Amino acid sequence: PNPVPEFINNSLDLEQLDAVVNSVGRTLIVAGPGSGKTRVITYKIAYLVSSGIKPENILLVTFTRAASHEMIERARRVSGSDLKGMLAGTFHHVCNHFLRKYSKRVDIDANFTILDREDAKDLIKHCRAQLIEELGKKNSSILPSAGVLQSIYSYAVNCGLSLREAIVHQNKKFLGIEEHIEEIWKRYTVLKLENNSMDYDDLLVKALQLFENNSEVLEIESTRFRWILVDEFQDTNILQYRLLELLSNVHGNLIVVGDDAQSIYSFRGARFENVFDFLNKGDTKVFKIQTNYRSTPEIVKLINNIVPTNSVEKNLKAVRTSGPLPVVAETWDNMEEANFVAQKIEEHINDGISPERIAVLYRSHYHSLELQMELDRRKIDYILFSGPKFVETAHVKDIISFLKVLINPSDQLSWGRVLRLFPGVGISTSLKIIDSLRTCMGDQKRIIEKLKAFSTSRIKLEHLIDILSSADAELQPANVIQLVHNNFYENYLDEKYPDARERKLDIERLEEIAERYSGISEFLEDLAVSEKVDIERERVEKESKVVLSTVHQAKGLEWDVVFVIAVNPGDFPSYFAVNEGNIDEEERVFYVAITRARDYLYLVRQKGGRSRPMMGNRYVFRSGYDFITRIPEDAVEFWDVGWDL
Ligand code: ATP
Ligand code: MG
Repeated sequence: PNPVPEFINNSLDLEQLDAVVNSVGRTLIVAGPGSGKTRVITYKIAYLVSSGIKPENILLVTFTRAASHEMIERARRVSGSDLKGMLAGTFHHVCNHFLRKYSKRVDIDANFTILDREDAKDLIKHCRAQLIEELGKKNSSILPSAGVLQSIYSYAVNCGLSLREAIVHQNKKFLGIEEHIEEIWKRYTVLKLENNSMDYDDLLVKALQLFENNSEVLEIESTRFRWILVDEFQDTNILQYRLLELLSNVHGNLIVVGDDAQSIYSFRGARFENVFDFLNKGDTKVFKIQTNYRSTPEIVKLINNIVPTNSVEKNLKAVRTSGPLPVVAETWDNMEEANFVAQKIEEHINDGISPERIAVLYRSHYHSLELQMELDRRKIDYILFSGPKFVETAHVKDIISFLKVLINPSDQLSWGRVLRLFPGVGISTSLKIIDSLRTCMGDQKRIIEKLKAFSTSRIKLEHLIDILSSADAELQPANVIQLVHNNFYENYLDEKYPDARERKLDIERLEEIAERYSGISEFLEDLAVSEKVDIERERVEKESKVVLSTVHQAKGLEWDVVFVIAVNPGDFPSYFAVNEGNIDEEERVFYVAITRARDYLYLVRQKGGRSRPMMGNRYVFRSGYDFITRIPEDAVEFWDVGWDL
């Protein structure tokens, strides 16, 4: 191996250093939370670059966009290189890159639109409604909702299962109507093609097809990537694993890091068994790291005591100086819980902890609703990693739709969204217009003529016509946004939303980001899949806000103060998961949650039950499984939080 630069030597312990320097060929670095796995990957990049490897020969893959953003930044800092040319990001990002580059090989138009989960669900909903109309209303109640259909299809794709197998897994009662479910799937597939669009799963499947069916392309790309580094490997599914195997077949340098105890994406087909499979195949080198650098000894002790069932025992050593014991706080109900958490957050901020170093984690987004209100009331700024993402909010989507129809005029979904912003245009009118636009796709002049023909005193399209007359696909994205905003959208917001001011700020934010781009396509791609545009993260850093997040979104990240809320049997672990015998996965989610904390950890629960109805008017059931009973009494401090707080 090459000599190790001083800055690397000084930043790693011996186990970590060994893993950085001697990971060559197929390598698995397996270690518990907070032990520096991600750090090893970042320093590995620095080490490779310092020994003369070009960034363009490195592929770095990770799981969430937030994590990839952070990791790439860290790698840049430590390597002192801008790492230009390195391909780095989530699997979706990486697949998107290949598909645009080789679109002709897979018979797709390089301007395809990426459907986010909401868009995709809308298309499924449309196909479902169509089928119901044909079958007659009485059949409608037996069909699963669009959301359920979406998860059945996604599960089938990501696990490489037949539709039938996926249905058996999700809900056997749908087996009787398998035919209909399949029919909707077929129509959905056709509709995506007509729209020249792909959902997230398509990105993965098509990229895999690209490499499986084009040996020259595989040859070129696998020759390019001398080094492939993968973080959070325990969350890969079969398709992703296959893609990594293919891309590493020339050089064989596939370095993966992971922790089987933190595998929490089985609902998307993640298999922590991939870790063992990888281990058992060929001559895979294994490195273990045993020290936890993240958390205080008190928190590490708790972590060591609740390792999830069926995962490899890892006894982490603690090295940090002592801190307070983790707290189990028992409140009465969800209102009191919100009050307690908000109050503690205030105290920590008053003690000098910066708000962005504080996080509240939960199993499901709705667990945070009371807390959001309480924080609003106390004027404590927070940001949500759960709930609708910035790019999924209605107003941002409206603007994005304009950009989409400019570069991909076949995108009917976006046309629908655009058209319905104008007075007098409802669903049926928009469908009629779209239908007549079909024949003139790509011909801006004719599109405008058609729109003029539809304009009446009731259907007011003049602003749209104005915008389309001065915009085209060549225009810079920021200019299009400005055009739309100034021309009519600002007024539209004022009329439609009481919180128009906030929304205008969002549009300004969008415009600011767009200014970094000269082309619309590149901007849209990055919005959809790249780590470069992660507005939530940017805001946390710039505006210093408390983070509210699902555990899933918090993966790989850390905070000084962590609250895990609603640790009630039935909420967390989720009643549904326990009922379906999925308790191991719930344990892993809990494990991920508590291992995010550096200094302070609060597990908060409601002993009196909830005063909040959910999911219609049904109260959620309590499951018998309680995480807190797994915790040894001397590992935590119990607080009884009364009404008189
Ligand atoms: P997770 O399983 O949660 O993804 P991880 O194993 O990837 O955790 P990192 O995020 O890389 O762990 O590291 C956890 C924390 O410990 C980070 O703040 C990191 O900077 C710090 N750390 C890791 N190794 C060292 C070290 N040798 N010296 C000082 N700090 C370290
Ligand atoms: Mg990590």
